[in-house]
Amino acid sequence: MSQLLTVGNPKTAKGEGLGYLTAILHLAPADTSSVMNVCPWATEGCKAACLNTAGRGGIFRKGETTNAIQEARKRRTEWFKRARGHFVATLAYEINRHAKRAAAHGLKPAIRLNGTSDIPWEKVAPFLFTQNPGVQFYDYTKSPERAAEQYSGKTWPIGGFRAVWPSNYHLTYSRNENTTDEAMRFMLRCGVSVAVPWGAPLLENDAWEATHRRWEPANVVDGDANDLRFLDPRGSVVLLKAKGRAKRDTTGFVLR
Ligand code: SF4
Repeated sequence: MSQLLTVGNPKTAKGEGLGYLTAILHLAPADTSSVMNVCPWATEGCKAACLNTAGRGGIFRKGETTNAIQEARKRRTEWFKRARGHFVATLAYEINRHAKRAAAHGLKPAIRLNGTSDIPWEKVAPFLFTQNPGVQFYDYTKSPERAAEQYSGKTWPIGGFRAVWPSNYHLTYSRNENTTDEAMRFMLRCGVSVAVPWGAPLLENDAWEATHRRWEPANVVDGDANDLRFLDPRGSVVLLKAKGRAKRDTTGFVLR
């Protein structure tokens, strides 16, 4: 039984048609676990609209404010906080098992470690990437520095060595209410793709044309067609329909 990685998200299932089996690690976002903040770059808008409440994770019995999915995410976060070595060893085991399962189905393995968190795994557990060169890891991040770092060639010290960005880890920057248009254009020109939550259905309200006019990206991608962001051309704007509580956002996190 899997304790950390889950397979079967409706959106990631779309990736199977493109040859990828995706597994996701979900923690309790931001500081909702009460033991640690797993989203150091979170904004008020993204916290209020977090995907934590999309899908089955957002279904609560009448009068209740939590459910089994939310409680499991909190337990995992507490495990990560209190027994990091054991947590990461279990994660490494489950990544390996996911790769084997994907191969058995004739699919390539893909993994999102930050399904509902923004942990810099390249610094926290870089060996997860180097030990699994056949696994494609990908995430979204609210940190422009992390997103840009993947293409910078920058190195940093780890255990007496110098580490470089793992070649099998792709990040997409998530636009939020604090992202300026200037910063958007800069990141896109640097080849970083940027996800933009959009409040109206795609093609309504001229979303594609408006995106081209406003930020001049190399490409505009329908982010709801699949979740395989590492297949997008570099420097794409990824349009995502607002889901869960994001539909009611008033902070500017969701564009309308
Ligand atoms: S950074 Fe992502 S996971 Fe964390 S609170 Fe914001 S939207 Fe949710």
